[in-house]
Amino acid sequence: SLSDKLQGVFKKLKGKGVLTEADINDAMREVKLALLEADVNFKVVKDFVAAVKEKSLGSDVLESLTPGQQVIKIVNDELVSLMGGANSKLTYSPRGFTVLLMVGLQGTGKTTTCGKLANYLKKNGKKPMLCACDIYRPAAIDQLEVVGKNVDVPVFTMRECREPEVIAQHALKEAELRGYDVLIVDTAGRLQIDEALMDELVRVKKAIKPHEILLVVDAMTGQDAVNAATGFDETLGIDGVIMTKMDGDARGGAALSVKQVTGKPIKFIGMGEKFDALEPFHPERMASRILGMGDMLSLIEKAQENFDESKADELEQKIKKNQFTLDDFLEQMGQIKKMGGIGKLLDMIPGANTKAMKNVDLEDSQKEFAQMEAIILSMTKAERKDPSLLNASRRKRIAAGSGQPVSKINTLIKRYDEARKMMKQFTNISGGKRKRMFRG
Ligand code: GDP
Ligand code: MG
Repeated sequence: SLSDKLQGVFKKLKGKGVLTEADINDAMREVKLALLEADVNFKVVKDFVAAVKEKSLGSDVLESLTPGQQVIKIVNDELVSLMGGANSKLTYSPRGFTVLLMVGLQGTGKTTTCGKLANYLKKNGKKPMLCACDIYRPAAIDQLEVVGKNVDVPVFTMRECREPEVIAQHALKEAELRGYDVLIVDTAGRLQIDEALMDELVRVKKAIKPHEILLVVDAMTGQDAVNAATGFDETLGIDGVIMTKMDGDARGGAALSVKQVTGKPIKFIGMGEKFDALEPFHPERMASRILGMGDMLSLIEKAQENFDESKADELEQKIKKNQFTLDDFLEQMGQIKKMGGIGKLLDMIPGANTKAMKNVDLEDSQKEFAQMEAIILSMTKAERKDPSLLNASRRKRIAAGSGQPVSKINTLIKRYDEARKMMKQFTNISGGKRKRMFRG
């Protein structure tokens, strides 16, 4: 994958104490190939590599980083800015009633994403309503109704009506009247952009004046997704992109190209078929995912969303200060367990992405956690704070105390070490003083 390739390039750089211009040129040639193979737009790749080269040769280096790490940081920062810099939020109407128009080609995930978005908005204190404007297949209306049921959001339909703009207008009135504050309008798609589809969408747009037109594209289709974005934007005008099926796309080229090519940001990404598999798109997190720095921020946010906010803050602080103890590890694992899905979270943590951890049977994870808890609770306070104290005789004592074999204790310490190492890497990137990397 792109991630593997880039990490391969940087592994070579990381080891070097001094970097020459030739080292950088070599690395950039490989970066370029990796990006092209990932189906990133050619012009985007060219500009990207040029910018990284220029910055690498003329830049300040952070004291805490080697020149190799510094180049990685520059690549990271350029990736972030390529994808639009900061997270691009939905715009809500200042009047308090917001209309979102969902558009896109057939099969990209519009209808599913309507449900995910409604679910997301509900979690954020909004009161959404859905509207079915795909008039070409009765099954499409049924599908949206099922989606609405799943996320417990009402769906406005007018099964006899053949004019989407009329349906949308009625839905708008109804939603406002009944006290909803967001209307999400699902529309029909086609296999390709054609005039009839665009005319229809333009009519809907005129009729309901949406605050946001969100284009849904399928990450798996690579540059076709980017071309669709260009096409819809030119004819209809779009405010942002929702990129679905990011869970299945190994190449990532579309996500890296869309902002640069169209000027329109990705606002959300779809990470699966379930209704909670929608995430606000954070360029900096995507970049660190690609570069294999793990996605601690997403992990923390997920924990925050589902659990105790102050605890998550505390954890973030500890990670920053490098004071991550076995107690924290236990708590973190407890949260992951409560979140239900270990697999998805493991994917975000490079240190945790080992076979041993992946093989943890989800059915067994409950039991696994109870054992881990027993082990850690059998340790003294001092041991939990400083696991380097855990020599053989202490491990034996803990084994006896927790009723677990010593091998389990060794495994646990290994996992903890992996997690801590990864966090160290993470904090190294964000701090440090500056000095020149290349002189004269
Ligand atoms: P529409 O024609 O644009 O309305 O597309 P649908 O909402 O009917 O979705 C088409 C297919 O894509 C369905 O099977 C969805 O479950 C699937 N899908 C949508 N979003 C995602 C996603 O983020 N990840 C994955 N893996 N599948 C998705
Ligand atoms: Mg649909």
